[in-house]
Amino acid sequence: MQAALATWQAELPIQAVATPDQAQVRLWRRKPPLESGPDGPMRASHGRALLELRQVQRLGQWQLEPQVDVLISPGQRPEAIQATSLHELGHAFGLWGHSDQSGDVMAVSPTAKPVLSLSPRDRATLRWLLRQPGLSPVLAPAY
Ligand SMILES: [Zn+2]
Repeated sequence: MQAALATWQAELPIQAVATPDQAQVRLWRRKPPLESGPDGPMRASHGRALLELRQVQRLGQWQLEPQVDVLISPGQRPEAIQATSLHELGHAFGLWGHSDQSGDVMAVSPTAKPVLSLSPRDRATLRWLLRQPGLSPVLAPAY
């Protein structure tokens, strides 16, 4: 999970905070709850990013901010945990969609060989996201 976070840290100005309640993105080693599949039955997954909006006070002003809880199931091989963390953190940092290319971190389903680094396509999508107007200053690049 640390390696996955370090990968995103190389791309984004991520700052660690003292307590979990201050964080906009929280990473948990916890099995995600079952969710209903497209055809009905409940199914398990190795990771999940859960988005909530919350009201917080910043410099005396109340504002809505996202808070994302990333749940990573501990019962996986270390490489699979890293790949799952990388993918779910991608969702947490704003890449909510999926890629149809299996070599991308944001591919729709995990492959036999875990994807442990961002592809040029993942990076291009992130750069596109960072250029969008109205982006939260928390995620805005420092340049
Ligand atoms: Zn996903």
